[in-house]
Amino acid sequence: MSKQRFSAISRSNKRNKIEIKEKGRRSEYFGMNVFNEEKMRQFLTQEAFDRIKAAVISGTKIDRKIADQVAEGMKAWAISMGATHYTHWFQPLTNATAEKHDAFFDLTLDGKAMEKFGGGQLVQQESDASSFPNGGIRNTFEARGYTAWDPTSPAFLYGATLCIPTVFVSYTGEALDNKAPLLRALNAMDEAATAVAKYFDKNVTKVNATLGWEQEYFLVDKALAYSRPDISLSGRTIMGQSAAKGQQLDDHYFGVIPLRVLNFMKELEKECTKLGIPVKARHNEVAPNQFELAPIFEETNLAVDHNLLLMDIMEKVSDKHNFKVLFHEKPFAGINGSGKHNNWSLATNTGVNLLSPGSTPMKNLQFLTFFVNTIKAVDTYEELLRSSIASASNDHRLGSSEAPPAILSIFIGDQLNEVLNELEGVTNGKLSPEEKTDLKLNVVGKIPEILLDNTDRNRTSPFAFTGNKFEMRGVGSKANCAKPMMVLNTIVAKQLQIFKKEVDGLIAKKGLKKDEAIFNILREYIKTSKRIRFEGDGYSEAWEKEAESRGLSNNKTTPSALQVLTSKESISLFKSMNVLSEVEVKMRKEVELEEYIMHIQIEGRVFNELIYSYIIPAAIKYQNNLIQNINGLKSIYGDSYKKMAESQLDIVSRISDHLKVIKVKTDAMVEERKKANKMVDVNKKAYAYCDKVRVHFDEIRYHCDKLERLVGDEYWPLAKYRELLFIK
Ligand code: ADP
Ligand code: MG
Repeated sequence: MSKQRFSAISRSNKRNKIEIKEKGRRSEYFGMNVFNEEKMRQFLTQEAFDRIKAAVISGTKIDRKIADQVAEGMKAWAISMGATHYTHWFQPLTNATAEKHDAFFDLTLDGKAMEKFGGGQLVQQESDASSFPNGGIRNTFEARGYTAWDPTSPAFLYGATLCIPTVFVSYTGEALDNKAPLLRALNAMDEAATAVAKYFDKNVTKVNATLGWEQEYFLVDKALAYSRPDISLSGRTIMGQSAAKGQQLDDHYFGVIPLRVLNFMKELEKECTKLGIPVKARHNEVAPNQFELAPIFEETNLAVDHNLLLMDIMEKVSDKHNFKVLFHEKPFAGINGSGKHNNWSLATNTGVNLLSPGSTPMKNLQFLTFFVNTIKAVDTYEELLRSSIASASNDHRLGSSEAPPAILSIFIGDQLNEVLNELEGVTNGKLSPEEKTDLKLNVVGKIPEILLDNTDRNRTSPFAFTGNKFEMRGVGSKANCAKPMMVLNTIVAKQLQIFKKEVDGLIAKKGLKKDEAIFNILREYIKTSKRIRFEGDGYSEAWEKEAESRGLSNNKTTPSALQVLTSKESISLFKSMNVLSEVEVKMRKEVELEEYIMHIQIEGRVFNELIYSYIIPAAIKYQNNLIQNINGLKSIYGDSYKKMAESQLDIVSRISDHLKVIKVKTDAMVEERKKANKMVDVNKKAYAYCDKVRVHFDEIRYHCDKLERLVGDEYWPLAKYRELLFIK
């Protein structure tokens, strides 16, 4: 009998619910642990307050004198809240965050209290860059890295620690994190979008990209999760026979949330609210034990920080409620995976959503401008955008048997397709007064303020327009949204720059009116970006063929998806937009490839361990039991035992058949891993792990799952799907 599995089952069945009480009205304690405007007014001088505001709005630098004042105020606030430590909180090139805690107070040699937190500590800290992924851009004597304060994301109190959001850069200035390039991309977007928005409203001085993520996740009982080495080490079940009941009944989605989970959610939301994360919707997802949490959207940099913080809080709160939260994109085969839809739009300082149709033709022309430019940008850089969501774990969704597919395409709905089709017919050059009136009245003017038929009709589209924003659906549940957001904002910013230049060109050289010029350029963009628009089923063989003939990329694995990062076009794009230097791009690709290798390597090792230490011994033990039975029958009944032991004999031989394949394939996989490990070139090594190592996983799994069916339940050492997936 498998002790570990059955003791885990019994513990999971005996869980007491941890009751969580609502903490009064949310608005009353929203952001209580954040050094937000309200606290800044209270704890900062007017001068320091104004300078921070200016830094947030227009990116002005904060000098040392002001930094000292801010540090003083922050510290006073944090200590008044019971803080003992502070940390620079940053996003190394993993999907997690990192922190290094320091105490506020220290003792001098003669035992006097000394304070350690001043402007210097607030603004910049030295950190050992060599212990974080850096793509080999530094040798050891350059191992210094720095974390530097990001005043655009407010400091917050987490436990007894003041957390200060920072960027992480090398001694020589290269970004070693996900935040620095995101900030650069958002800056590029602000400049490019503001310039274009000024065509329509001179009062626009700033454009913020907005992000509303939707975090999907699974919850599994902690004891059961940790009883399985694969879940503990790789975040997913690398084997496991489907439960008799899966998601066929569709009874989980919007069903009643189990009480134990509800208490977890209540506490989670309470913690989020205190930290100023505006969480809103909670519901069950399609698969059993799968849930989703979505906030109100925010400025992108802040939204990214909040998502990372959320994932951290989720780990802690779930643990307290005796769950393990799984962020892996495909923790269970045969059951829906998890994603993190990124809802994205652009908002002006005048309070206008640039991707929202308006009440006048001019407002709608503004909408169309940003709408069509986004389509054009995604068309030009579809492969690059795909690369931004590539990871070993997300490969199980994209390009596997699950929507959205690895091919990027855009869904815009019937109404807007009609509008774009009409605009394609706009006259080249100057427009007659009649045509202008007609356009205003019958095309642009006809876009309704609320695009009802558009919302969410096509669930398989990887990039869908949903009424007043685009929804990027391929982002992995585990991913840092900074990566896709950095690329999306860079490519759209680039496109808007080009657009501005072309429109200005037509006005200056051809003497066109502004709206004529805009119509002319949009017409060309609509024509040349048609291949990216697709309204059909994004997950079908027919579409794969069609997409290929349209010249769209279809990179199903991470190594192949990452190649485009270092193409001439990508390098020049990032350079021209001041988002990433060539060195930074190359380093990032290397880090991503290394991460891929490590991920598959771990899974390979876990396979090896499970096969030899769990599966083979369990199968043999059960087989021995059958053999004992067969021998017993033989000794009692003599020759006629064969008829009586027919089933037993059959099972014995089927177990042997499966074991044989499992062992041969596992050994072959291990051999390939050894070969791959000797490779020096990271690119080649990643391909080897993908094409030579990983390819064995499915077949090994197939036979293990067959064994799970054959072997007596009490012999089976790994918690089964039905135990993992149905919380009581
Ligand atoms: P649902 O899809 O559940 O009907 P919504 O369409 O209102 O709900 O929003 C889904 C997600 O989109 C939410 O996380 C929300 O914050 C986000 N969202 C809504 N408007 C915007 C916007 N202008 N920019 C970015 N995200 C947005
Ligand atoms: Mg959605």
